[in-house]
Amino acid sequence: MEKRAELYSGKAKTVYLCEDPQRLVLGFRDDTSAFDGEKVSRLARKGMVNNRFNAFIMERLAEAGISTHFERLLSDNESLVKRLEMFPVECVVRNISAGSICRRLGVEEGLDLDPPTFEFFLKNDALHDPMINEYHIRAFGWAGEQDVERMKTLTFEVNDVLKGLFADAGLILVDYKLEFGRFGDDVLLGDEFTPDGCRLWDVQTRKKLDKDRFRQGLGDVVEAYEEVARRLGIELG
Ligand code: C5P
Repeated sequence: MEKRAELYSGKAKTVYLCEDPQRLVLGFRDDTSAFDGEKVSRLARKGMVNNRFNAFIMERLAEAGISTHFERLLSDNESLVKRLEMFPVECVVRNISAGSICRRLGVEEGLDLDPPTFEFFLKNDALHDPMINEYHIRAFGWAGEQDVERMKTLTFEVNDVLKGLFADAGLILVDYKLEFGRFGDDVLLGDEFTPDGCRLWDVQTRKKLDKDRFRQGLGDVVEAYEEVARRLGIELG
């Protein structure tokens, strides 16, 4: 599938049009950013690692019956996906407290959350991705009532599949962010699932093996992503 003009360049991925108007090419770059783009860096191999990581996870989710936009790997850094009409919201499920929930609610890191929590955020860097609820989404037309229900259901289904998958690799899925979009009448999982958008801790030591290594200046960021990939049996180039 030949890629054509650049459609959009995000903080870590570039999206290209291709000959099929219903498909897009996702290009995973080595760029990494945190704090709404305030901290940026380029980490060698990250684009390749995340591209392959995302492909592996999307394939496991599809096998479990969760429809995603992912079609196939095109190269080390590129994947072919269905072109979705994205909802401008982020869906976050947390199994353990970490990150913004600790800052917002003054709770300590590392608490088991039973039940896991669900939060919506508006995708808007200028506003620092504020937390929103279902009423905001419907009242401002960011998605419909059924879309909201579908996003919540699918996000929890992803938890059921991935908690076990990571547990088998000696990892705790602490939390993760998903984005969805419309494809015809369906709501499909879009964007990516990589250590850039989730938290993963070693089950024994609770060592952080995700983007918090970059956010918190812990070093060995890509090495940690590669460690997770190796444990999952993902082949890296
Ligand atoms: O920052 P916060 O604790 O709310 O993040 C929850 C989860 O969502 C984390 O795994 C984080 O990596 C992910 N996230 C993301 N993109 C954002 C905000 C959060 O991938 N813009």
